[in-house]
Amino acid sequence: MGHSIRMRGFRSRSEVTDVIDILDTASPLASELVAVSECAGRNLTEEVVAPINVPGFVRAAVDGYAIRGEDSFGASEQNPLLLQVLGTSLPGRPFAGSVGHQQAVRITTGAPVPEGADAVIQAELTQLPAGQRLEQPNQVELVGSVAPQKHMGQVGEDVAQGETILRPPRRLRPQDAGVLASLSIADVPVVRRPRVQMLVTGSELVAPGNRPGPHQIVDSNSVLLAGLVARDRGRWLPPIRVADGEQSLTRGLDQLISGQADILLVSGATSVGLEDLMPTVLATRGKLLIHGVAMRPASPTGLGQLHDGRFVLLLPGNPVSCLCAYEFFVGPLVRRLEGHPQPWRWPHPQRRLQLARKIVSKIGRVDFVRVGIAEHEGRDQVVPIATSGASNLSSAVRAAGVVVVERDLEGLAPETWVNVHLFDDPTETGP
Ligand code: AMP
Ligand code: MG
Repeated sequence: MGHSIRMRGFRSRSEVTDVIDILDTASPLASELVAVSECAGRNLTEEVVAPINVPGFVRAAVDGYAIRGEDSFGASEQNPLLLQVLGTSLPGRPFAGSVGHQQAVRITTGAPVPEGADAVIQAELTQLPAGQRLEQPNQVELVGSVAPQKHMGQVGEDVAQGETILRPPRRLRPQDAGVLASLSIADVPVVRRPRVQMLVTGSELVAPGNRPGPHQIVDSNSVLLAGLVARDRGRWLPPIRVADGEQSLTRGLDQLISGQADILLVSGATSVGLEDLMPTVLATRGKLLIHGVAMRPASPTGLGQLHDGRFVLLLPGNPVSCLCAYEFFVGPLVRRLEGHPQPWRWPHPQRRLQLARKIVSKIGRVDFVRVGIAEHEGRDQVVPIATSGASNLSSAVRAAGVVVVERDLEGLAPETWVNVHLFDDPTETGP
């Protein structure tokens, strides 16, 4: 296959949806246990039944005095009722004794309500008789009343022992993690995060951080994709870099295959040029399922599968193509393996706006169009960014986001309403 198309071009291309259908067969990775302090944002794999009551003791919901509610009946500003104060109950330092008739224990929010008391009266409804010391009163006057059971948090009121508090599918929120911690759960079963590793091909490339010599360029794709994988909660393994040539590519691919990655990425060497041998090499190590997709950019994208089931994505070397292929195919796969309930939904914030200028496309091809947003006739409108192709990554730096033109459209006329997938969260970037 590879030989027949090199230097000739793709004869027929697969559809974007063909690739998606294949990737959609992947299942989330197996479960692992993570510390409760690390579980927020991860996808729960088992339902959680509360092993204990929260709270495990009756506690005060306000600052005031623990009393027998009926002792407050009839109390008012005009008719203060006097109670004896036995002591104080503080959080973690309960009052040891019991509260009888006409007695009270000073109490603060969250402290255990002592035995005998059945209500807590707010400090605002009490006053200290003349001569009583605030630090250690012996008596208190009630100037209002509370019903029994008022202002007390009951055992299991927050979560009752035996209650199913969380069940999958659930991306754990910070408050979920907090509740799990309150239930004394130390480790939480979540979907393992997929490990992603990239084989970077190209004799012209130098690693990031180096000054390119004549005829060299810096490998920016690995930096770009590391950030995208982190966004999608994958784990990025250090990339492998190899020069062009069949032997070198084969060695690189073998190293990638023998590594720890759940998702294998190859950048470059997948087009129809002389050095673009990756599809051929991949076919010797697994199945080459797709090569060439009806989209722009990223049409040289390829997809293979190893005998152990892992997917290998061949990403075009052009950085914008690489970004595009990531958003269409790799990101969803990372999210799927990580247990995301909606892996195919793009994670960008979206804005629905009208086009200020037309976008040209072709029926039968999906386009990934970088766009700016500019004020036009008093409102924000979408302005496609004119570029000289997929090699200029700065087009994606200048862009506010992308618009996807679906395959059945010839283009989009001015004033068409479009969905812009924004690169930034508008609440974080200001006007
Ligand atoms: P290829 O897909 O290997 O034919 O590469 C297409 C274009 O992308 C060439 O101009 C390459 O120099 C460039 N390119 C390939 N790999 C990278 C990379 N990792 N980072 C930046 N540019 C790249
Ligand atoms: Mg290359």
